[in-house]
Amino acid sequence: MPEIVAGQYPSTTQRGGRFVCAVGLVTWVLTFLPLKVHADDIITPESAAHAVALRDQAMRGTDALAIVGALTTEVGPRLAGSRAESRAREWAMGRLSDYGFSGVRTESFSIEGWERHGERAEIIAPYPQPLAATALGGSVSTPLEGISADIRMFQTLDALKAIPDGTLNGAIAYVGHAMQKTQDGSSYGYFNEARTWGPSIAARKGAAAYLIRSIGTDSHRFPHTGTLRYADDTPRIPALALSNPDADQLERIALSGETVTIHVWVQTATNIDAESGNVIAEIRGRESPNEVVVIGAHLDSWDLGTGAIDDGAGVGITMAALKLIKDAGLAPRRTIRLVLWGAEEVGLLGARAYQERYAASLSEHVIGSESDFGGGRVWQVTADSQSERGDRLFAAIARILAPLGIAPGSDDLPGGGPDLSPLIESGVPTLRLHQDGRDYFDLHHTADDTLDKLDAAALDQNVAAFAVFAWLTADSDVSFRDSGD
Ligand SMILES: [Zn+2]
Repeated sequence: MPEIVAGQYPSTTQRGGRFVCAVGLVTWVLTFLPLKVHADDIITPESAAHAVALRDQAMRGTDALAIVGALTTEVGPRLAGSRAESRAREWAMGRLSDYGFSGVRTESFSIEGWERHGERAEIIAPYPQPLAATALGGSVSTPLEGISADIRMFQTLDALKAIPDGTLNGAIAYVGHAMQKTQDGSSYGYFNEARTWGPSIAARKGAAAYLIRSIGTDSHRFPHTGTLRYADDTPRIPALALSNPDADQLERIALSGETVTIHVWVQTATNIDAESGNVIAEIRGRESPNEVVVIGAHLDSWDLGTGAIDDGAGVGITMAALKLIKDAGLAPRRTIRLVLWGAEEVGLLGARAYQERYAASLSEHVIGSESDFGGGRVWQVTADSQSERGDRLFAAIARILAPLGIAPGSDDLPGGGPDLSPLIESGVPTLRLHQDGRDYFDLHHTADDTLDKLDAAALDQNVAAFAVFAWLTADSDVSFRDSGD
């Protein structure tokens, strides 16, 4: 990215007449940038120079896209607890062993697995026609003959919550809350309540089934799945999502004032004793191996697409970042641990299993970050440092990331990725490399989440950022925790 570098650093005296081509610029960066980052004594000159070299090597090309390509082709969709997720663990173990990492292992745990056998939705009256719909993850089945009932429309989840309990009399409740695109994806937390808790809210109101407009921002006939959570004290009713154009269609018909009757059919199964697992690989620390920097992504995916953006991209980015450091022959002071989390989509189950297993050593987890927001470029970095030295190390990391078009932001943005949230509860600091996610919810949890949506150069920029972050925090003695002084 020579033009970004040129905008970031040059002074007129340094530039002179030397930079007539991209090669000249790269030479300039390699020659002068280490001098720039030495100015802060929080990292050694050698460590800073290695970080710059890792960054520039990544920008020349990494294995990230090839890794996602292999995972999504050789394994495909990887539903939590399924045989396919198990094959993904075998695939990852093979790769990570081939790359020569230390401590390559799978840490298994059991979960209640869920699988989709089929679903259908159609308008019966007034204008009979099929609808593009998908069962939400965890949905129970309808009776074999399906459910036919009138629709009760609600513009928002709050509107559904507001009606008295038990008043829907076996209708199918529909919530049509449309989500808008955002760069940071921050509205997802608000809108996905309609998916996660909506089914039980609708059941409490007396609905026989629950239907939503997909929690997604595209205008294609790809419905978005995703997990639901049944409350313990309400009947479990089947739940589906319509694609955005189908939701528009249903709302248009309802606006005419006629009663809309629809038919839904869902068949699913559960396996109360399914297996999942986290796959782990490390570069062992040369001085303080018990101090751990955690990077990673989740290995499971939904079943509709091949899980390329969610979260094959994160797997490719973080595996390639660790490989980049290993291939450079670098041994950091502390251990860098890659965790490929299992069963994220169904409730962060791998992250919970890790929190339990490593409870005694979480105080030695220095910092963590997950890549789980697709393949878009990183535009911002934030960290929840609570120490003065941590703040200075963060500033040094941000300076080395700046030529990638990454700006430091305030620390009030969400933590280091979904699988990091149990570790945050346990006091582990996090850093987040915020990606541009404007198209993320076009594809998220749909059949359209496939490899062709990823861009190699954008993944390489992510690898550069992860490698710089992991290397500098691991090759350091800085704590991000509040030391009380
Ligand atoms: Zn994800």
